[in-house]
Amino acid sequence: MLSVLDVKAQRWFVPILSPGRALPLQRSISPTVYPELVDFLRLDFKEPFGNKDAMASASKIEWTDQTWNPVTGCTKISPGCKYCYAEILAGRLQRMGAPGYENGFGLTLLPQRLDAPLKRRKPTVWFVNSMSDLFHEKVPFEFTDAIFETIKATPHHRYQLLTKRPERMEGYFKDRVAPPNAWLGTSVENRKHGVPRIAVLQRIASHVRFLSVEPLLEDIGFLDLTGISWVIVGGESGPRARPMKAEWARSVRDQCARAGVAFFFKQWGTYGDDGIRRIKRANGRKLDGCTYDHMPA
Ligand code: SF4
Repeated sequence: MLSVLDVKAQRWFVPILSPGRALPLQRSISPTVYPELVDFLRLDFKEPFGNKDAMASASKIEWTDQTWNPVTGCTKISPGCKYCYAEILAGRLQRMGAPGYENGFGLTLLPQRLDAPLKRRKPTVWFVNSMSDLFHEKVPFEFTDAIFETIKATPHHRYQLLTKRPERMEGYFKDRVAPPNAWLGTSVENRKHGVPRIAVLQRIASHVRFLSVEPLLEDIGFLDLTGISWVIVGGESGPRARPMKAEWARSVRDQCARAGVAFFFKQWGTYGDDGIRRIKRANGRKLDGCTYDHMPA
């Protein structure tokens, strides 16, 4: 049985999955046939369709309200990027002719989207650049300044800025101050590439520093959580997802509890706590029977 959301989503999935081909609806993708792919696309399926240019959109990401993408496209930098959902989605959006994706996953600045949050009065949590990395080396600091102008002009909103390039983020803030409504975060997917990013983030003055431990690819061991306010943990989703073991997630949760850091368990992803592959929704987002939705104060 398809939910209303599934039926609505299918109308979009047909062109996404079969660009350039007019498939009859009865031959369109069903959650039974391609559960991971349907689930994967549900993550952000409003992205290109909310309005003509989709400057911002409601997000299915559990830890935010809206995504805002004044930059699209990126390049891979570490193993967490291997099955980057933004890359796959950007390619499909390009084939559909969606505005903002003319270059596919090539890095693209979209100045026409800079003022999108100014139009929203309701206090909102924005994930900035879900389809890119704001601190990518090809994003000029002048453009980042323009993004921060919008952030500073909207103190009723909060903004989550997540990067796998904290060294460049540190360079940006060398002679600038992060406004209090900007939360600065870095991704920590493994020991070799992810854990060293924490020390870089800790050197940057910020009201809220956070870690996105997703996709968690191995036991990342002891974490120095000094100055960290929030940690998100999640397993990978998508057709080629890599499994996350429960003990890896527990280790991070327990370290957060000891350090008094807010812990958010986002999802198991494609593999459940029993190591079995299923649709992401079926695997849920409980760890040891509990839902962890903690946010920084
Ligand atoms: S840094 Fe993020 S957006 Fe860029 S390739 Fe890696 S996962 Fe994708």
